[in-house]
Amino acid sequence: MPDIKDIGVLLAEAESAISMANSPDDLEAISIKYLGRKGQITAVLRSLKEVPIDQRKELGAATNKARVKLEQELKEAAEKFSKGDKKANFDPTLPGVSHRIGAIHPITKVLKQVNQSFERMGFEIAKGPEIESDYYNFEGLNFPPDHPARDMQDTFYVEGDMLLRTHTSPVQVRTLKNSKPPVKIIAPGKNFRNEAISSRAYYTFYQIEGFLVDEGVSMADLKGVLNAFCRDFFGEGLKLRYRPSFFPFTEPSAEVDITCFLCGSKGCRLCKHTGWLEILGCGMIDPNVLENADYDSEKYTGFAFGMGIERVTMLKYMIDDIRLFYNNDIRFIRQFI
Ligand SMILES: [Zn+2]
Repeated sequence: MPDIKDIGVLLAEAESAISMANSPDDLEAISIKYLGRKGQITAVLRSLKEVPIDQRKELGAATNKARVKLEQELKEAAEKFSKGDKKANFDPTLPGVSHRIGAIHPITKVLKQVNQSFERMGFEIAKGPEIESDYYNFEGLNFPPDHPARDMQDTFYVEGDMLLRTHTSPVQVRTLKNSKPPVKIIAPGKNFRNEAISSRAYYTFYQIEGFLVDEGVSMADLKGVLNAFCRDFFGEGLKLRYRPSFFPFTEPSAEVDITCFLCGSKGCRLCKHTGWLEILGCGMIDPNVLENADYDSEKYTGFAFGMGIERVTMLKYMIDDIRLFYNNDIRFIRQFI
């Protein structure tokens, strides 16, 4: 036989269930459980006729009160769902939220193109750490102790003789030490120099280093590889010019210019009216570098080249400010899809 306490317990249970309901379906289930035809409160109302007459009025009133209260609370909870609850409003037939898709960064794109171009000529990709020791970054590459590039102005020192590599050439020393000739490698990567930021300079930049060491490698092999690359990357019909230069790790050294592809070497703003565009540095690997890597420099020779990726990307796409690469403005990056 139900009594007033049972009604209190049923009501408390139902209210607790309403407070935890996550959807209109949950509310419907609660309504059926307590107020439906076979619901628990309905059952109490039905059994009232069996309750002794002196208790019937009081129990009947309490049960009815609980029923009305529960109906009201279910109605309010249902309204809450229809007003703003996302779960309640979820419509699986609506079109999905479209996410904005990014784009491949022009530096990434050019790195891939350059890698592929050299891979087609049989070069393999090697990588090295961005935090390097003085030995791999300078000493092993024949930089004398008083070379200006060692100056604190140009190099970010980390701790002791560890530094952020200033070029990708340390990969040359590391790879030569761990390989036997023939060695035919390109090493793309990020470098760091303590540069004042301007439209032409940034403290982070990408380079691709390439080198080939074997018996009988000559300057003619270097020219053959670079000519093939430049035509592949910039287009057919270009002329290359080798100007003598100096790098500590190559002897002889040269800088390579290509004929300006914008004006066809007539002279324009891009080539500063010279008709030529400087694109990379190269040379025959200095025998000291080979000896540092335990190679017999009498027997083996090699060439090396290094190219700034930002520089060739700027030339290829006629970008006039290097800082645009690092602003992450999607409107800029999207133009190179
Ligand atoms: Zn030009």
